[in-house]
Amino acid sequence: MAAMAMKKLAKKAAKKAPWRRSKNSPAKAPATQKKMGRNTGLELDPKRIEELLKRLQAAYPNAECALHHRNAWELMIATILSAQCTDVRVNLVTPALFKAFPTPKAMAAASLPELEELIRTTGFYRNKAKSIRGAAQMVETDFHGEVPHTMDELLRIPGVARKTANVVLGSWFGIAVGVVVDTHVLRLSRRLELTKETTPEKVERDLMQVIPQARWIDFSHEMIYHGRQICIARKPRCADCTLERLCNSPDKTWSSH
Ligand code: SF4
Repeated sequence: MAAMAMKKLAKKAAKKAPWRRSKNSPAKAPATQKKMGRNTGLELDPKRIEELLKRLQAAYPNAECALHHRNAWELMIATILSAQCTDVRVNLVTPALFKAFPTPKAMAAASLPELEELIRTTGFYRNKAKSIRGAAQMVETDFHGEVPHTMDELLRIPGVARKTANVVLGSWFGIAVGVVVDTHVLRLSRRLELTKETTPEKVERDLMQVIPQARWIDFSHEMIYHGRQICIARKPRCADCTLERLCNSPDKTWSSH
């Protein structure tokens, strides 16, 4: 009797959340389910994605860019400085940097040693100093001192790759042309089986296919918050995770299913 009841319960749970794996799950997804995604089966089920997005939004309703900035210019420079560095560290450095060089024109005329000294603690400061001065010079000469708001134009600026361009476009201009993929978004997207790729460009391409465009901007912020607070790199806090029931990652430290 008990075994029958357990079987019934498992059947009911599978019907409610078919993406969840159990020891009774078939080794391979049925052919009709494969078309839901290019991975193994149900991880890209639109219902699962919808539930993921719903839970992320509920957990982080006010998620926003953690880099302090007052305009697109400051956000672009802060994002360039955030490579291989924490946002907290960047936020410690930028007040003095923008006080000394408040505009693209001022920074374009700065000497490299001056810039290096101000941003030293963010790491890779020699390359970053070259990038931010180069960015200032191009914004000043090619864009009349205004940060452009198209992906193509932003990608011409020294030190700006897709991540920085997406941050500026999404967080300042409110334009969703891509998904910000930083280290947290990349790690979580793989754990949540939204992609199997390992490079930011390819992960972004996959995310753009499975996440509705209207959610691209907030989704990145929410994933970054979740990656910082719960789904941390070394030891994810799965017992506290709002996505746990939807997650089948081998990195899990605790599982309810
Ligand atoms: S269950 Fe664990 S591994 Fe999965 S998303 Fe949550 S914290 Fe990350």
